[in-house]
Order: sequence, then C-alpha cells, then structure tokens
Amino acid sequence: MSTQFYCLKNMPIVRIALDVPLPTLFDYTVAEGIAVAVGQRVLVPFGRKQMMGVMMECAVETELAAERIKPVLHVLDDVPPLSEELLKLLRFCSDYYHHPLGATVLSALPARLRSSQPVAVKEALLYALSSSGRALDMSLVPRRKVVQHLILAALQQGSLNNAQLRALSPSAPTALKALLQAGWVESMAHTRSPLLNPLPRAGEDANAKSHIFNGAHTLTAEQQQAVDAVTQTNGYGCFLLHGITGSGKTEIYVHLMHEVLRRGGQILLLVPEINLTPQLENYFRSRFPEADLVSLHSGLNDGARAQNWLRAQSGQARIVLGTRLAVFTPLPQLALIIVDEEHDASFKQQDGLRYSARDVAIFRANQRKVAIVLGSATPSLESYYNAQSGRYRLLKLTQRAAALAQLPTVRCINTENAVLYHGISEQLLAALEQRLSSGEQSLVFINRRGYAPVLMCTACGWLSGCSNCAGKLVLHLKDRRLRCHHCGHQERVPHACPSCGNADLQPVGIGTQRVESALQERFPQARILRVDRDSTRNKGAWQAMRQQIHDDEVDILVGTQMLAKGHDFPNLTLVGVLNPDGALYSSDFRASEKLFAQMAQVAGRAGRAGKPGEVLIQTAFPDHPLFRALREHDYDAWAKILLAEREAAGFPPFVYQVLLRAEGKQESEVYNFLQRSRKAAVELALPVEIYGVVPAAMPRRANHFLAQLLVQCESRKLLQQFLRVWHPLLDALPAQKLRWSLDIDPLEF
Ligand SMILES: [Zn+2]
Ligand SMILES: [Zn+2]
Repeated sequence: MSTQFYCLKNMPIVRIALDVPLPTLFDYTVAEGIAVAVGQRVLVPFGRKQMMGVMMECAVETELAAERIKPVLHVLDDVPPLSEELLKLLRFCSDYYHHPLGATVLSALPARLRSSQPVAVKEALLYALSSSGRALDMSLVPRRKVVQHLILAALQQGSLNNAQLRALSPSAPTALKALLQAGWVESMAHTRSPLLNPLPRAGEDANAKSHIFNGAHTLTAEQQQAVDAVTQTNGYGCFLLHGITGSGKTEIYVHLMHEVLRRGGQILLLVPEINLTPQLENYFRSRFPEADLVSLHSGLNDGARAQNWLRAQSGQARIVLGTRLAVFTPLPQLALIIVDEEHDASFKQQDGLRYSARDVAIFRANQRKVAIVLGSATPSLESYYNAQSGRYRLLKLTQRAAALAQLPTVRCINTENAVLYHGISEQLLAALEQRLSSGEQSLVFINRRGYAPVLMCTACGWLSGCSNCAGKLVLHLKDRRLRCHHCGHQERVPHACPSCGNADLQPVGIGTQRVESALQERFPQARILRVDRDSTRNKGAWQAMRQQIHDDEVDILVGTQMLAKGHDFPNLTLVGVLNPDGALYSSDFRASEKLFAQMAQVAGRAGRAGKPGEVLIQTAFPDHPLFRALREHDYDAWAKILLAEREAAGFPPFVYQVLLRAEGKQESEVYNFLQRSRKAAVELALPVEIYGVVPAAMPRRANHFLAQLLVQCESRKLLQQFLRVWHPLLDALPAQKLRWSLDIDPLEF
C-alpha cells in the first residue's frame, strides 16, 4: 500500500498523545501565532468531542489529507510542560509493556491535569508566630487547648507548612484557625528554599540541633557500610539492601536521604500500597521537619494529588513518598530512588498499563544516572538472582539494630494427626494462655476472612458455590450471609440444603471470624480484636484499631495479611500461624516464594522491643525446607533451593514471560481467540516457547470465562522482538465481544 504525504506549507503539524486504545499519536495543525511546546497539554477535537492530550513531537508532514487535519483548539499553559526525560520514560513503558503511548502518557498524569479545566496552583502557605504571638504569655492559652500549645511551641522553633502542622496532630487545622483568629499566628507565601543543615560530624555533639535530620541515630558497622557504598557511587547503581526484619533498613534510608538533601537533590521513596499510612508519612516528616515532603497515593483526593505532583515538578518538594503510581512523578533534581519492600506484589499494576513500579524505577535510575536502593527482608527471587549474578550490588544486614532485640524463636506444630479446636492446636492455646497471664499481646494469623471458606451439606455433600464464578461462597456468620470474594455476589444462609433439603449444613474450614469466636469462647476474659478487610472497611477503622493495640487495650489479635506488614507493636511477643500449607501445593509457581515472605514478615512482628518473641506455625509438613529455613532465619538457604527449582523447571528469573489473557461471556469465543493467537505465534517461528491455551486459575468469574496463553523466552530482547510482530497480529484478530490484554513479566497466573 502506498502512502501519500501531504505537505502543508507554513502549517506546523504536531503529534498529540490521546487517551484512546490505539497505538498511534494523532496529527493536528497549530494556527499561526500560537506557540506549543513538547510536553504541553492541549485541547483537541476528536470525533464529535474534545479531548485533552499531550503534545509529543513536531512534524513537517502528515499522512492526513489537508481537509481532514484539524487545528489544536487550546494550549494549556497553566502548568509547565512535561519534561523530555519524563516523556522518554513513558515512551519506554509504552514500548516495553505494549500499551498504547497515548493511554500511557495520560495515565501518568493526575486526574486534574487530564481534565480540560486549567489547574489552579495553590500557593503553599507557611505559618509563623506573629509579633504578638512571640510576645505571648503562654498562660493566657487555656491548659486544655493541648494542640494549640503544641503548635505554638513548634512555631517557636521556626515556621511550618500545613503538612508539618498536621503531623503534630490530626486536629491541628482547627487549632490553627483559632490561633490565626487570635492573631498569634500569621501565614505567608512559601518562597524561601529549605534550610539545609549539615549532619553533625564525628566528635561534634550528636544531639546538636539539626533541623533537617532529627535524632541522628548511631549506625552499626553494617549500616554504615551500606550507607557508604551507596553515597560513594557515581552515576547509576542498583543496590539490593537485604536486611532481616528489625535490622534498621529505614535508618539507612534516612541517612541516604539526608545526604541527598544536603546536596540539593530530590528523593523518590516508593512503598507498598498497604504500608502507606499517615504513620509512615509522619515518621519521615518527623525525621526531616524542614524538608518539603509530599505523598502521592490513591487515597488522596484529586486536588491534593495534583498539588503534590506540581510541587514535585517545580522542584519545591524534596521528598516524594508514594505508592507505585508515584514512579511517574516529574522530579527535575531526582538524585536517589528507594523502593522499600521491593518484593511486594502491589508494585505491579494489574490492569491498564500493567507495569512494575520497581522495574520502571530501575529503568528511571539508569536513565537519570542515579543510585537506586531496593530494600527487603525477603527479596524477590528476581532481585536476589540479579544480586547474585552481579547486576545489582548486594548490601546485607545480618543483625537487628536495637542491641536488645533478638530474632524470634520459630517452631512448627505438627498438625498431621493433631486434634484441633476450631483449627487451633493445644500447644498454641497454651501459649496464648501464658501470654494472657503475663499481660503480653499475641497475634493469630490466618489468611482467610469470613467464618468458614465454604458451607457443606452433611447428607449429600453439596457445597455453597457461587452462581457467577468457579469459586465457593464464604460463610460470614456475623450477618448470616454467604459471600463470593471474587465477584461480590451474596445471599442469605439457606435453612436447608438447596440440593436435598437436609437441614444439617456445616461450615468447612476456618476463617478469621471463626477463630475470633472460638478464642472468645475459650478465653472469655480476653480482649480480642479481629483485623481483616471486613472489620476495617469503614474509613478510619484501622487507624483506631492500631491505637487500641498500641494502648494495650487488646490481648489477642486475629488477622489476615493486613497485620503482616511493617507494623510495630512493642508488646506483641507471640505469633501463631494457622493453615499456611495451601501455598505448598499451589499451581502458582510463585506461591511458596510469597508464603516465605509473608511468614518471615509475620514472624518479624514478634518481639521487637527487647522482649523475646515466639512464632508457632501449625503445619502438616514441619520438615518442608521452607519451614526449616524459617526456623533458622535463613533466607539464603531457601532462595538457593527455589532458584535451583526454577532453573530446572525453566521459570523466572531464568526466563522472561508474557501472558495473553482473554475473557468473555461466550466460552467458545474466548478459546477461539486464544487458539488463533497461538497459531499466529507458532507461525512466526521465532525462538520463543509457546504454551497451550489453558483456563485461568479462576476460570469463571462474574459470569465471564477466563483463559490464558503463556509465551516465554530466555532472552528479554528476543521476547520483545517476538512481541513487536505478534501484537499487531492480535490487534487484527476479531474480538468484538472479548476483553484481552498482554501482561509482560506477569506476577499472577
Ligand atoms: Zn444436601
Ligand atoms: Zn462470584
């Protein structure tokens, strides 16, 4: 097919990224006298509507006929254009993850910047004591106005912005209003650059007031070595910081961040979804009270997210703390990236642009020629392998930082022939009783919410299945309902078996609610708190629960993985784990890797403040190498076993994978599409390994059939070459009633 090029004299052509599912940019003209720069947002006509797009490049010619090309309607200059560097990063992501460029570029913008309304840039305000505030006799402020006292005292040390004030107390805005009205505090526009005070040198008073770096902790020799290795690196370097729980990874981050702030750089700190609590943000604010820190995560409203993004783009914000979406934040002075809990699955986006924020962060550090630190107590096997092979530099922390803190004792309770009380062994019950009498906290961990995973008829064997899914309905006894955890379908618990009419229906298996009620029956005096997605659904519920735990108002915690991550409960000395065995015979080859990480994390909750901790794991396979490695706190031993298994089986990190997923209401259409995709792949005769078409792990969900096709290759480059020719063939296949997607480096199967 020959293409005709139309040259339009004196009419510059611009190529615009638009959020449409097509892998192209769109050509427009710009009227004379209007200037538009690469990276600027523009409003253009598209079909019958107007769309917001991003100007990507200029061109001298277009394939469009002169009468068909339309002009740009409006150029938005309310915020600075996206930098070439950021656009390059987004081009890479579009290319690598085989997602349309326009959709990739637009998805990286906060929602406010995607709308056609200009963004009003709020001036960040600073608050300081007024002259009457400085002369104020504090006894004039009523004693019970605790927060007002707190704010006045803090402002005596220097001016603060809104976020820093909020870090003092959640009710700071109300107290601030009163202080402003009284005329003791005044606000001013934020214009000065942050004060950068040097870290006290050895020999100087370590407690000397350092505004930028609160409470300089003395580092252990291991920690110091890790800090030195990173700060002495010039240009790009990827470091895997492998440190057991409690070994003080955060202190290393703080020291590295301080060094970067001192040199005037910006820091991107990525954390998993679950960990982004105000506590974490407040922690870093308290360590860097003078640095401008912004957070970016899905919990922020559109306005706050846009403002924080713009503060990062302007260079005003020095620290950006965020979840995976923050990896696309524009940072003109970016000098360090930290990915905490790098193994966490929440760094991978599961729809749209299916990117791994950790991997994109590594690309970004390389592009920018700066250091990146991946921290974890249980690194992903991919990162561990890269550290072993020398692609990353390994930094190891083998000791807990607090001198008194010891690693918990991990023991297995063999449940093979044991009699269990609602899934709980006698040994665990005895250990719980002992903690109750000594006034210490315990955690019982079970990764299943609800009362029981399924309801069964004792006469005919009927099981409560979901009518829309291949899954089972979970019994929630609290409100007497059966719920599907896959599609949300729910119904009342039947009085009799729908199949045979028998009235004796029994719950099978255990969930958090069942453990909670069984323990309450066994220990009527104990204060038991259940923490799972059901009990924390209401906004602020989890916050309040954390406070209860910290205030020692709880004896026994019953919870799911929500409790496994990163929380510090000083009085918690016992962790009991129920039913972890499912992952040992899962069809997902990553299941045992995830189980180890989860067990190590959960075990890390026990005994962190000088009290020795104990972990009891109930399993039918106490001799499994996974549990042996857990008992010996030997991640390396376990990683070596897993790597050998993966190498023998030809799984990642020894190969690179792409998963083609399809779903639709007609089973035959789903399978036809995948079979034709497979045939197209085979006919390309490229050096990739093509598996068969198989049902997804959950083959039917919400009345849709799900199936998939896996392709893998030992070379990332060859797999990408294959994808570049295969992807257009997939686009050409008929698939009107289907949804399909390519997932590069998939984590879930
Ligand atoms: Zn029955
Ligand atoms: Zn369902």
